[in-house]
Amino acid sequence: MTDQAHPDRVIDGKAFAAGLRGRIGTAVAGLKADHGLTPGLAVVLVGEDPASQVYVRNKGKQTLEAGMNSWEHKLDATASEEEVLAIVSQLNNDPSVHGILVQLPLPDQIDTEKVINTIDPVKDVDGFHVINAGRLATGQDSMVPCTPVGCVMLAKDRLGSLSGLEAVVVGRSNIVGKPVAQLLLQENCTVTIAHSRTKDLPEVCRRADLVIAAVGRPEMVRGDWIKPGACVIDVGINRIDKEGGGTRLVGDVAYGEVLEVAGGVTPVPGGVGPMTIACLLYNTVGAACAQAGIDRPEI
Ligand code: NDP
Repeated sequence: MTDQAHPDRVIDGKAFAAGLRGRIGTAVAGLKADHGLTPGLAVVLVGEDPASQVYVRNKGKQTLEAGMNSWEHKLDATASEEEVLAIVSQLNNDPSVHGILVQLPLPDQIDTEKVINTIDPVKDVDGFHVINAGRLATGQDSMVPCTPVGCVMLAKDRLGSLSGLEAVVVGRSNIVGKPVAQLLLQENCTVTIAHSRTKDLPEVCRRADLVIAAVGRPEMVRGDWIKPGACVIDVGINRIDKEGGGTRLVGDVAYGEVLEVAGGVTPVPGGVGPMTIACLLYNTVGAACAQAGIDRPEI
Protein backbone atom coordinates (compact mmCIF):
# COMPACT_ATOMS: atom_id res chain seq x y z
CA MET A 1 0.00 0.00 0.00
CA THR A 2 1.18 3.54 -0.67
CA ASP A 3 0.68 7.08 0.48
CA GLN A 4 -2.03 7.42 -2.18
CA ALA A 5 -4.17 4.77 -0.43
CA HIS A 6 -4.27 6.78 2.82
CA PRO A 7 -3.26 10.38 2.08
CA ASP A 8 -4.99 11.59 5.24
CA ARG A 9 -2.66 9.45 7.37
CA VAL A 10 0.55 10.97 6.03
CA ILE A 11 2.00 13.60 8.37
CA ASP A 12 3.69 15.98 5.95
CA GLY A 13 6.65 17.40 7.88
CA LYS A 14 8.04 19.06 4.77
CA ALA A 15 4.90 21.18 4.34
CA PHE A 16 4.65 21.91 8.08
CA ALA A 17 8.30 22.97 8.19
CA ALA A 18 7.83 25.27 5.17
CA GLY A 19 4.89 26.95 6.95
CA LEU A 20 6.91 27.28 10.15
CA ARG A 21 9.87 28.83 8.28
CA GLY A 22 7.45 31.30 6.67
CA ARG A 23 6.08 32.33 10.09
CA ILE A 24 9.65 32.63 11.43
CA GLY A 25 10.50 34.93 8.48
CA THR A 26 7.53 37.14 9.36
CA ALA A 27 8.57 37.22 13.02
CA VAL A 28 12.16 38.14 12.07
CA ALA A 29 10.92 40.99 9.87
CA GLY A 30 8.90 42.25 12.85
CA LEU A 31 11.90 42.06 15.19
CA LYS A 32 13.98 44.08 12.74
CA ALA A 33 11.27 46.70 12.23
CA ASP A 34 10.18 47.05 15.85
CA HIS A 35 13.41 46.42 17.77
CA GLY A 36 16.27 46.73 15.26
CA LEU A 37 17.11 43.12 16.14
CA THR A 38 18.41 40.68 13.51
CA PRO A 39 18.81 37.18 15.00
CA GLY A 40 22.12 35.56 14.01
CA LEU A 41 23.25 31.93 13.92
CA ALA A 42 26.87 30.76 13.75
CA VAL A 43 27.67 27.19 12.76
CA VAL A 44 31.03 25.55 13.42
CA LEU A 45 32.02 22.65 11.16
CA VAL A 46 35.15 20.61 11.79
CA GLY A 47 36.28 18.27 9.02
CA GLU A 48 34.84 17.23 5.67
CA ASP A 49 32.14 14.70 6.57
CA PRO A 50 29.87 14.87 3.47
CA ALA A 51 26.56 14.56 5.38
CA SER A 52 27.64 17.29 7.83
CA GLN A 53 28.65 19.56 4.95
CA VAL A 54 25.17 19.20 3.42
CA TYR A 55 23.47 19.89 6.78
CA VAL A 56 25.61 22.97 7.38
CA ARG A 57 24.99 24.33 3.88
CA ASN A 58 21.22 23.86 4.30
CA LYS A 59 21.25 25.47 7.73
CA GLY A 60 23.07 28.53 6.35
CA LYS A 61 20.75 28.82 3.36
CA GLN A 62 17.56 28.56 5.40
CA THR A 63 18.86 30.97 8.04
CA LEU A 64 19.46 33.62 5.37
CA GLU A 65 16.09 32.91 3.72
CA ALA A 66 14.38 33.63 7.06
CA GLY A 67 16.08 37.04 7.09
CA MET A 68 18.61 36.22 9.80
CA ASN A 69 22.38 36.58 9.88
CA SER A 70 24.37 33.43 9.20
CA TRP A 71 28.04 32.62 9.72
CA GLU A 72 29.99 29.44 9.00
CA HIS A 73 33.32 28.65 10.66
CA LYS A 74 35.09 25.75 8.98
CA LEU A 75 38.12 23.99 10.42
CA ASP A 76 40.24 21.15 9.07
CA ALA A 77 39.63 17.61 10.29
CA THR A 78 43.00 17.89 12.07
CA ALA A 79 41.97 20.96 14.11
CA SER A 80 42.86 20.78 17.80
CA GLU A 81 40.38 20.98 20.66
CA GLU A 82 41.94 24.34 21.65
CA GLU A 83 41.20 25.79 18.22
CA VAL A 84 37.54 24.74 18.42
CA LEU A 85 37.20 26.04 21.98
CA ALA A 86 38.77 29.36 20.91
CA ILE A 87 36.16 29.82 18.17
CA VAL A 88 33.33 28.96 20.55
CA SER A 89 34.65 31.52 23.08
CA GLN A 90 34.92 34.17 20.38
CA LEU A 91 31.30 33.50 19.35
CA ASN A 92 30.15 33.53 22.99
CA ASN A 93 31.56 37.08 23.24
CA ASP A 94 30.10 38.37 19.96
CA PRO A 95 26.80 40.18 20.67
CA SER A 96 25.62 39.82 17.04
CA VAL A 97 25.73 36.02 17.39
CA HIS A 98 22.61 34.80 19.22
CA GLY A 99 22.87 31.10 18.42
CA ILE A 100 25.91 28.79 18.21
CA LEU A 101 25.76 25.30 16.74
CA VAL A 102 28.74 22.98 16.62
CA GLN A 103 28.01 20.36 13.96
CA LEU A 104 28.36 16.81 15.31
CA PRO A 105 30.08 14.40 15.10
CA LEU A 106 33.43 15.99 15.92
CA PRO A 107 36.74 14.25 15.09
CA ASP A 108 38.10 11.87 17.74
CA GLN A 109 40.80 14.24 19.07
CA ILE A 110 38.11 16.66 20.27
CA ASP A 111 36.10 16.14 23.47
CA THR A 112 32.51 16.76 22.28
CA GLU A 113 31.07 17.22 25.76
CA LYS A 114 33.73 19.81 26.63
CA VAL A 115 33.01 21.79 23.44
CA ILE A 116 29.22 21.70 23.92
CA ASN A 117 29.50 22.72 27.56
CA THR A 118 31.73 25.68 26.58
CA ILE A 119 28.90 27.23 24.55
CA ASP A 120 27.12 29.96 26.50
CA PRO A 121 23.85 28.18 27.51
CA VAL A 122 21.74 31.13 26.29
CA LYS A 123 23.30 30.71 22.81
CA ASP A 124 23.07 26.90 22.83
CA VAL A 125 20.39 26.61 20.11
CA ASP A 126 20.95 22.82 19.84
CA GLY A 127 19.96 22.54 23.52
CA PHE A 128 22.70 19.99 24.28
CA HIS A 129 24.46 21.94 27.07
CA VAL A 130 24.13 20.16 30.40
CA ILE A 131 22.52 23.29 31.91
CA ASN A 132 19.79 23.26 29.26
CA ALA A 133 19.26 19.50 29.71
CA GLY A 134 18.91 20.10 33.46
CA ARG A 135 16.56 23.04 33.00
CA LEU A 136 14.37 20.98 30.65
CA ALA A 137 14.29 18.06 33.11
CA THR A 138 13.25 20.37 35.95
CA GLY A 139 10.59 22.15 33.90
CA GLN A 140 12.38 25.51 33.65
CA ASP A 141 12.66 27.65 30.52
CA SER A 142 15.47 26.19 28.42
CA MET A 143 16.84 25.78 24.94
CA VAL A 144 15.37 22.47 23.76
CA PRO A 145 17.02 20.19 21.14
CA CYS A 146 15.58 20.88 17.69
CA THR A 147 14.50 17.40 16.54
CA PRO A 148 12.45 16.72 19.71
CA VAL A 149 10.76 20.14 19.39
CA GLY A 150 9.87 19.25 15.78
CA CYS A 151 8.46 15.84 16.79
CA VAL A 152 6.17 17.38 19.39
CA MET A 153 5.01 20.13 17.01
CA LEU A 154 4.01 17.46 14.44
CA ALA A 155 2.28 15.31 17.08
CA LYS A 156 0.29 18.29 18.41
CA ASP A 157 -0.64 19.38 14.92
CA ARG A 158 -2.07 15.90 14.27
CA LEU A 159 -3.60 15.10 17.68
CA GLY A 160 -4.35 18.48 19.25
CA SER A 161 -3.87 18.24 23.02
CA LEU A 162 -1.56 15.40 24.04
CA SER A 163 -2.74 15.52 27.66
CA GLY A 164 -3.41 12.08 29.14
CA LEU A 165 -2.16 10.16 26.11
CA GLU A 166 0.05 7.06 26.42
CA ALA A 167 3.32 7.93 24.67
CA VAL A 168 6.10 5.42 24.00
CA VAL A 169 9.50 6.80 23.02
CA VAL A 170 11.79 4.13 21.56
CA GLY A 171 15.38 5.30 22.15
CA ARG A 172 17.00 7.07 25.09
CA SER A 173 19.75 9.20 23.55
CA ASN A 174 20.52 12.63 24.99
CA ILE A 175 19.89 14.13 21.54
CA VAL A 176 16.43 12.72 20.82
CA GLY A 177 14.93 10.09 23.15
CA LYS A 178 15.41 11.74 26.55
CA PRO A 179 14.50 15.32 25.55
CA VAL A 180 11.44 14.24 23.54
CA ALA A 181 10.27 12.23 26.57
CA GLN A 182 10.69 15.34 28.76
CA LEU A 183 8.67 17.46 26.34
CA LEU A 184 5.89 14.84 26.23
CA LEU A 185 5.84 14.78 30.03
CA GLN A 186 5.39 18.57 29.97
CA GLU A 187 2.44 17.98 27.62
CA ASN A 188 0.98 15.69 30.31
CA CYS A 189 1.46 12.43 28.44
CA THR A 190 2.07 9.21 30.33
CA VAL A 191 5.53 8.49 28.99
CA THR A 192 7.39 5.19 28.61
CA ILE A 193 10.98 5.32 27.41
CA ALA A 194 11.94 2.04 25.71
CA HIS A 195 15.46 0.98 24.70
CA SER A 196 17.58 -1.98 23.70
CA ARG A 197 16.96 -3.81 26.98
CA THR A 198 13.17 -3.30 27.00
CA LYS A 199 11.30 -6.62 27.33
CA ASP A 200 8.66 -7.28 24.67
CA LEU A 201 9.01 -3.98 22.82
CA PRO A 202 6.14 -4.78 20.39
CA GLU A 203 3.73 -5.16 23.33
CA VAL A 204 4.99 -1.93 24.93
CA CYS A 205 4.45 -0.03 21.65
CA ARG A 206 0.97 -1.54 21.16
CA ARG A 207 -0.37 0.33 24.19
CA ALA A 208 0.72 3.73 22.85
CA ASP A 209 -1.50 6.46 21.44
CA LEU A 210 1.71 8.13 20.29
CA VAL A 211 4.91 6.32 19.28
CA ILE A 212 8.17 8.21 18.73
CA ALA A 213 10.81 5.99 17.13
CA ALA A 214 14.42 7.21 17.51
CA VAL A 215 16.47 4.06 17.26
CA GLY A 216 18.67 4.09 14.16
CA ARG A 217 17.52 0.62 12.98
CA PRO A 218 15.93 0.47 9.55
CA GLU A 219 12.18 -0.31 9.60
CA MET A 220 12.33 -1.93 13.05
CA VAL A 221 8.86 -0.82 14.21
CA ARG A 222 6.35 -3.06 12.41
CA GLY A 223 2.68 -2.56 11.57
CA ASP A 224 1.51 -5.11 14.17
CA TRP A 225 3.31 -3.13 16.93
CA ILE A 226 0.90 -0.22 16.44
CA LYS A 227 -2.50 0.31 18.06
CA PRO A 228 -5.09 1.11 15.36
CA GLY A 229 -5.40 4.87 14.98
CA ALA A 230 -2.20 5.70 16.89
CA CYS A 231 0.12 8.52 15.77
CA VAL A 232 3.66 7.46 14.79
CA ILE A 233 6.56 9.88 14.52
CA ASP A 234 9.62 8.37 12.85
CA VAL A 235 12.90 10.12 13.67
CA GLY A 236 15.16 7.50 12.07
CA ILE A 237 17.32 8.23 9.06
CA ASN A 238 18.91 5.05 7.71
CA ARG A 239 20.49 4.49 4.33
CA ILE A 240 19.93 0.96 3.01
CA ASP A 241 20.74 -0.86 -0.22
CA LYS A 242 18.08 -0.69 -2.91
CA GLU A 243 17.04 -3.70 -4.95
CA GLY A 244 18.76 -3.38 -8.31
CA GLY A 245 21.60 -1.27 -6.93
CA GLY A 246 22.04 2.12 -5.27
CA THR A 247 20.73 3.13 -1.87
CA ARG A 248 17.62 4.72 -0.38
CA LEU A 249 16.64 6.37 2.89
CA VAL A 250 14.26 4.67 5.30
CA GLY A 251 13.18 5.41 8.84
CA ASP A 252 13.02 3.28 11.97
CA VAL A 253 9.41 2.44 11.09
CA ALA A 254 8.15 0.01 8.41
CA TYR A 255 6.25 2.84 6.76
CA GLY A 256 3.99 0.88 4.37
CA GLU A 257 2.83 -1.53 7.10
CA VAL A 258 2.34 1.18 9.71
CA LEU A 259 0.38 3.37 7.29
CA GLU A 260 -2.21 0.57 7.13
CA VAL A 261 -2.87 0.73 10.88
CA ALA A 262 -1.90 4.14 12.25
CA GLY A 263 -4.01 7.29 12.35
CA GLY A 264 -0.98 9.26 11.22
CA VAL A 265 2.67 8.53 10.39
CA THR A 266 5.61 10.65 9.27
CA PRO A 267 7.37 9.53 6.08
CA VAL A 268 11.16 9.33 5.65
CA PRO A 269 12.28 11.50 3.98
CA GLY A 270 9.81 14.37 4.33
CA GLY A 271 8.68 13.91 7.95
CA VAL A 272 10.78 14.84 10.97
CA GLY A 273 13.93 15.67 8.95
CA PRO A 274 12.77 19.04 7.56
CA MET A 275 11.48 20.05 11.01
CA THR A 276 14.95 19.96 12.55
CA ILE A 277 16.35 22.99 10.71
CA ALA A 278 13.04 24.87 10.99
CA CYS A 279 13.19 24.34 14.77
CA LEU A 280 16.82 25.48 14.82
CA LEU A 281 15.67 28.80 13.31
CA TYR A 282 12.81 28.89 15.84
CA ASN A 283 15.30 28.39 18.69
CA THR A 284 17.58 31.11 17.28
CA VAL A 285 14.71 33.62 17.29
CA GLY A 286 13.96 32.63 20.89
CA ALA A 287 17.62 33.01 21.86
CA ALA A 288 17.89 36.44 20.20
CA CYS A 289 14.78 37.68 22.00
CA ALA A 290 15.99 36.34 25.35
CA GLN A 291 19.38 38.06 24.89
CA ALA A 292 17.71 41.33 23.87
CA GLY A 293 15.30 41.14 26.83
CA ILE A 294 12.15 41.12 24.69
CA ASP A 295 9.27 38.64 24.48
CA ARG A 296 9.51 36.03 21.73
CA PRO A 297 6.88 36.88 19.10
CA GLU A 298 4.01 34.43 18.53
CA ILE A 299 5.16 32.01 15.80
P1 NDP B 1 21.51 6.68 19.26
O1 NDP B 1 22.24 5.59 18.57
O2 NDP B 1 22.24 7.65 20.10
O3 NDP B 1 20.39 6.00 20.20
C1 NDP B 1 19.62 4.93 19.74
C2 NDP B 1 18.70 4.45 20.83
O4 NDP B 1 17.96 3.35 20.32
C3 NDP B 1 19.43 3.95 22.08
O5 NDP B 1 18.82 4.45 23.23
C4 NDP B 1 19.31 2.43 21.99
O6 NDP B 1 19.14 1.80 23.23
C5 NDP B 1 18.00 2.28 21.23
N1 NDP B 1 17.99 0.99 20.53
C6 NDP B 1 18.95 0.48 19.72
N2 NDP B 1 18.58 -0.75 19.28
C7 NDP B 1 17.38 -0.99 19.83
C8 NDP B 1 16.48 -2.09 19.76
N3 NDP B 1 16.76 -3.19 19.05
N4 NDP B 1 15.33 -2.01 20.44
C9 NDP B 1 15.04 -0.93 21.18
N5 NDP B 1 15.83 0.15 21.27
C10 NDP B 1 16.99 0.11 20.61
O7 NDP B 1 20.64 7.38 18.15
P2 NDP B 1 20.00 8.88 18.07
O8 NDP B 1 18.98 9.04 19.14
O9 NDP B 1 21.06 9.89 17.93
O10 NDP B 1 19.26 8.75 16.65
C11 NDP B 1 18.22 7.83 16.41
C12 NDP B 1 17.85 7.89 14.95
O11 NDP B 1 17.35 9.18 14.64
C13 NDP B 1 19.00 7.66 13.96
O12 NDP B 1 18.50 6.98 12.82
C14 NDP B 1 19.42 9.06 13.56
O13 NDP B 1 20.00 9.10 12.27
C15 NDP B 1 18.09 9.76 13.58
N6 NDP B 1 18.16 11.21 13.81
C16 NDP B 1 17.43 12.00 12.99
C17 NDP B 1 17.42 13.36 13.16
C18 NDP B 1 16.57 14.20 12.25
O14 NDP B 1 16.85 15.36 12.07
N7 NDP B 1 15.50 13.67 11.70
C19 NDP B 1 18.22 14.01 14.21
C20 NDP B 1 18.88 13.07 15.09
C21 NDP B 1 18.85 11.73 14.87
P3 NDP B 1 20.33 1.70 24.34
O15 NDP B 1 20.37 3.06 24.97
O16 NDP B 1 19.83 0.64 25.26
O17 NDP B 1 21.58 1.35 23.61
